[in-house]
Amino acid sequence: MKIASITVFPLTSERPELKVGMPIHPSWWGYDQALVRVDTDEGLFGWGTAGTRWELAEAARKVLTPHLIGEDALQPEAVTERLHQWTFWYGRGGTITNYIGAVNQALWDIFGKATGQSVSRLFGGRYIDRIKPYASMLFEWPVDAMVRQLEGGLELNFSAFKLGWGSFGRVDRKRDEELVRTARQTVGDDAEIMVDAGGSDIYWHNGLKWATETARMLADYDVRWFEEPLRADDLQGYKALTEVSPVPIAGGEVLTRRQAFEPWIRERAVDILQPDQTICGGLSETRRIWQSAYDNNIQVVTHGWNTAVGLAADLQLAASMPDAKYVEFWYPAPYVDGILVEPFSLDEDGMLPIPDRPGLGIELDMEAVKARGAGAEDWGE
Ligand SMILES: [Mg+2]
Repeated sequence: MKIASITVFPLTSERPELKVGMPIHPSWWGYDQALVRVDTDEGLFGWGTAGTRWELAEAARKVLTPHLIGEDALQPEAVTERLHQWTFWYGRGGTITNYIGAVNQALWDIFGKATGQSVSRLFGGRYIDRIKPYASMLFEWPVDAMVRQLEGGLELNFSAFKLGWGSFGRVDRKRDEELVRTARQTVGDDAEIMVDAGGSDIYWHNGLKWATETARMLADYDVRWFEEPLRADDLQGYKALTEVSPVPIAGGEVLTRRQAFEPWIRERAVDILQPDQTICGGLSETRRIWQSAYDNNIQVVTHGWNTAVGLAADLQLAASMPDAKYVEFWYPAPYVDGILVEPFSLDEDGMLPIPDRPGLGIELDMEAVKARGAGAEDWGE
């Protein structure tokens, strides 16, 4: 079975309007995704997600397609590792890595469909058949909209909520505490809350002292973890914070390639490492990162603010690892709930069943996919 063609599908319907001179804000990034479909000469196809703007994914597709056509479609790791090696000097860690990761996911999907096995079984077997999803959302101020969103999540059976960005860490301590107190009061004492400061924001200004004091406040509200409290590349800051924080410290969503994660694991810079498959290199790369973290007693919770394909890949990987605890579920999420024939839903215990169907175990609604990318080519002209 040979690779016959590769297609990039934009997901841009939620993209904010960009005006000339406006900064490209990192919190917009999730609203701008690229689905990648790999087709074979035998009619089977697979899906992946590149966590980047579709124009960049399309540029990578053009460059790499001659190196993929005719390749064996049933060798996901060998084919994509060869691409990583061949493109070593061509923007590694950037768009090229994001795109190769999407191809990797798609090839695992194809391999599963061709063998009649879920990807988690191909990885050696399933430790779990369901996992706790946390509803991942943004802080809102005033708090009314946030309260409504949390209540909606409880109705859907979510029992864990991550709130992030918004005005948290950007106004004053009173604001931060009010946001967290309101969230805790809304979901009750039994639900789990995680807080994401969003330290990969533009010109993030809070340092180690702010992060340490804020971590103490979060401990008072029984917060499960504190995510990205410092600038994303401040490894030594994270290490110092992790040593003293009463709540676990999480980070790593912006890192790409397994090599970049090694110092964070070796230095024990975080308690919870958050590789994003759609950024760091797909299923194969994230599995290597997870294994290394596991061997060093660092919890991995994959970062997933992207698409239904990304979530499906996160679920397959989580099932195959011995210590998976949570999966990130963007909520509400047009590119997760809005592009599947059969959307994901939680069971009566608030857990998310992990598909055991061939490949990634999902079917995309192509009309919905195309509608969510309509007009993408005209954007920015
Ligand atoms: Mg985050």
